Amino acid sequence: MPSVLRAIFSPHELAVYGSKFVAGLEDLYREIILDHYRNPRNRGELEVPPAVQAVGFNPLCGDEIVVYLEVRDGVIVDLSTGGQGCSISQSSASMMSTAVKGRTVLEARRLVRAFKHMMSIHGSGIGGSGDDLDEDEPADDSQNGVKLGDLEALRGVVKFPVRIKCATLSWNTLVDALEQAFD
Ligand code: ZN
Repeated sequence: MPSVLRAIFSPHELAVYGSKFVAGLEDLYREIILDHYRNPRNRGELEVPPAVQAVGFNPLCGDEIVVYLEVRDGVIVDLSTGGQGCSISQSSASMMSTAVKGRTVLEARRLVRAFKHMMSIHGSGIGGSGDDLDEDEPADDSQNGVKLGDLEALRGVVKFPVRIKCATLSWNTLVDALEQAFD
């Protein structure tokens, strides 16, 4: 059993979901998720104002995400994140920041919808035979035409329901910040 997974998932979770999926998830962790966790992108603070600040908490895991967002003429011209928590919450925040920085608000909202769809039980087809582990999911798969890129690495987290809120926390906090930006 890879030690990194022992550090992230409880023995119960690993027992429930089995080694086949865990082996597949380990590849994704090593390549993408851990890279974003160890070398978070767009980390820091922005001056408020002109930026807005939103804070999100996931009490189930103890995760905290701070999103600083500056919108100008409908474009996310700058975005930084802070906070602390598990590797899933922090790497998801880093991936979110790279995915939406420089995008229009409209594009960012589309990404939020696509990501949350992927992280939903419906979007990932969980609850079926147990054989639909999506290990061959193409990296450029899209949700309603939206390319998720590296964010696809988090798809496997949906198999660990207690961790879904870790992955979606930064996205929900982004939505709060977007609403503030248009108050
Ligand atoms: Zn967490």
